[in-house]
Amino acid sequence: MSSVSLIVQKFGGSSVADAESITRVARRIVATKALGHDVVVAVSAMGDTTDDLVDLAHSITDRPDPREMDMLLTTGERISMALLAMAIKSLGVDARSFTGSQAGMMTDSQHGAARIVDVTPDRVREALDEGAVAIVAGFQGFNRDSRDITTLGRGGSDTTAVALAAALDAEVCEIYTDVDGVFTADPRVVPKAHKVDVVTYEEMLELAAAGAKVLHIRAVEYARRHGVRLHVRSSFSDSQGTLVAAERGKNMEEPIITGVAGDLSVAKVTVIGVPDVPGKAAQIFTLVAGTGANIDMIVQNVSAANTGLTDISFTLPRTEGDAVVATLRSSQADVGFADVAYDDNIGKLSVVGGGMRTNAGVSAQLFTALFEAGINMEMISTSEIRISVVTRGDELKRAMGVVHAAFGLDGDVDAVVYAGTGR
Ligand code: ADP
Ligand code: ASP
Ligand code: MG
Repeated sequence: MSSVSLIVQKFGGSSVADAESITRVARRIVATKALGHDVVVAVSAMGDTTDDLVDLAHSITDRPDPREMDMLLTTGERISMALLAMAIKSLGVDARSFTGSQAGMMTDSQHGAARIVDVTPDRVREALDEGAVAIVAGFQGFNRDSRDITTLGRGGSDTTAVALAAALDAEVCEIYTDVDGVFTADPRVVPKAHKVDVVTYEEMLELAAAGAKVLHIRAVEYARRHGVRLHVRSSFSDSQGTLVAAERGKNMEEPIITGVAGDLSVAKVTVIGVPDVPGKAAQIFTLVAGTGANIDMIVQNVSAANTGLTDISFTLPRTEGDAVVATLRSSQADVGFADVAYDDNIGKLSVVGGGMRTNAGVSAQLFTALFEAGINMEMISTSEIRISVVTRGDELKRAMGVVHAAFGLDGDVDAVVYAGTGR
């Protein structure tokens, strides 16, 4: 194995959206190599290719076969990896592209959401030893038992990069995207958001879980577990990005609020008129769990004394709504509730910050800001370093701006978004 330092660089879809961008990225890779580093690259599909392929599949059938869907979607990354390797070669540096399975990304068999179980990047190491840049197709792997191609879930190329960085013991994993780093809010939604220099794994996990798609949540989990240093930065500028690390530098104060995130991909289910007797919630959530749905917030109202009935509301990903509502309806008589209501015009706003742990006033400040803006909160939930509230979906964007300003996070200038459609 070579003794020079190794850097993993991941380029997202907007960074390789067309031939010109691919050449720009190739130049960047060649420049890193010229500094004496070994370079392994994880690459996403060009621009909105993955979304276009998803749309195409759905224009053929409402329920595409999961195995075939993975076969289809992994083609996006095969296109970009081959073009990027050609671009690097044309700059006079050797490069070799590999599919996920060629690069040894072994996963379980869960199509569309596979988990990495082993990384055996022998061919990547060989390419490096021969002086080449190794390009690996993002977001895909291979299951040994079924011998099928899998995908890691949308946004999963970040996880490919981190898994390679861990397996190859890279010095750093650089995530190149279309903004300058991790901001205090999505700059497409809150233009006054500002870039943060350092964010902890813990905060980044909460932000990603709350809807900040700048990093795939599983990439952050993986990086934390394996101690991979992550550097999120723009492929369109040279500015310093954001370091995701175990802790801030010794002299850096922990902000009370690191960032604000929004999520419009959630829906709310309310089970109305549930008999307020022991066992009913257990029965309802056993039914819900049977569908495999991921429940987030749960609220049970105080039952009206004269009726002995209560309402139970919970949130879940919109994509799981239909199955859950159908399952509940089919057991309505058995559980004995009056009705089920489904609401997908909701948004979830979260504030995240490590300093929240030691500060009592954060909820009061959040609720006051929303109240003064006339925004109603429908549900509330908290963790040690996060507070989330549900608002009307069409008020989420305004709510994020209001809360961002209220916590003093507004920057002096508008954030730059270099490319991408935000899709
Ligand atoms: P890529 O294609 O490079 O993986 P993504 O679209 O997955 O890029 O992620 C980058 C986008 O994440 C940004 O363009 C921005 O709109 C969005 N985003 C959401 N929250 C944040 C945040 N807190 N900081 C930076 N970007 C964010
Ligand atoms: N191309 C895949 C997607 O759009 C994976 C990725 O870009 O991270 O979700
Ligand atoms: Mg992404």
